[in-house]
Amino acid sequence: MVSTIELSKRQDQILEIVKENGPITGEHIAEKLNLTRATLRPDLAILTMAGYLDARPRVGYFYTGKTGTQLLTESMKKLTVKDYQSIPVVVNENVSVYDAIVTIFLEDVGTVFVTDDNHHLAGVLSRKDLLRASLGQKELSALPVNIIMTRMPNITMCKKDDLLIDVAKKLIDAQIDAVPVVKETDKGYEVIGRLTKTNITKAFVALADQEG
Ligand code: ADP
Repeated sequence: MVSTIELSKRQDQILEIVKENGPITGEHIAEKLNLTRATLRPDLAILTMAGYLDARPRVGYFYTGKTGTQLLTESMKKLTVKDYQSIPVVVNENVSVYDAIVTIFLEDVGTVFVTDDNHHLAGVLSRKDLLRASLGQKELSALPVNIIMTRMPNITMCKKDDLLIDVAKKLIDAQIDAVPVVKETDKGYEVIGRLTKTNITKAFVALADQEG
């Protein structure tokens, strides 16, 4: 059986007992294993949390019948932006392309978000936007970023409670590396975070590493 968590021998025994005898109380599971209810409590908690078992008050434990793949999908669909987002790197729309290039090196990011004088989202600058501008003949320190940025309303963004899987799909569909995490106000969008392909890669690895 494929499982999202590594089960101990005792946890496997518990699963077998519940599969055969469920619904069954913790008390009765303990009896069958010649253990005390207290000894079993952590194992039952893990199996319930991981989704293998369901507990109903005064009835007992049920086997959910969910496969490892179903459980993995369920945990994936619980990951939200707020647990994986990074701090946003933001510049004002009047700064020069030269300064924006310096910013991506200093802050070690691939994308910077651009805000207007009211600190609302106005645009996005990627590495390639900056490279493209550098290929022109213009004086980079005299060229404001708002001339070259991708601007509102064409910005793909997300909110802190969005599911990571939905943001991942947006990144793929829009063929971009990052989205700003925004908070909507009456006057515009405030940038409160940054969600990148790297954040999603980290979530993917965390999911694979999760044990119990
Ligand atoms: P790069 O250009 O460095 O490969 P991206 O693939 O993220 O980086 O950007 C591709 C284009 O999409 C750029 O022109 C950029 O301005 C734009 N872009 C990047 N992120 C967003 C976003 N969240 N919403 C809208 N456009 C974006």
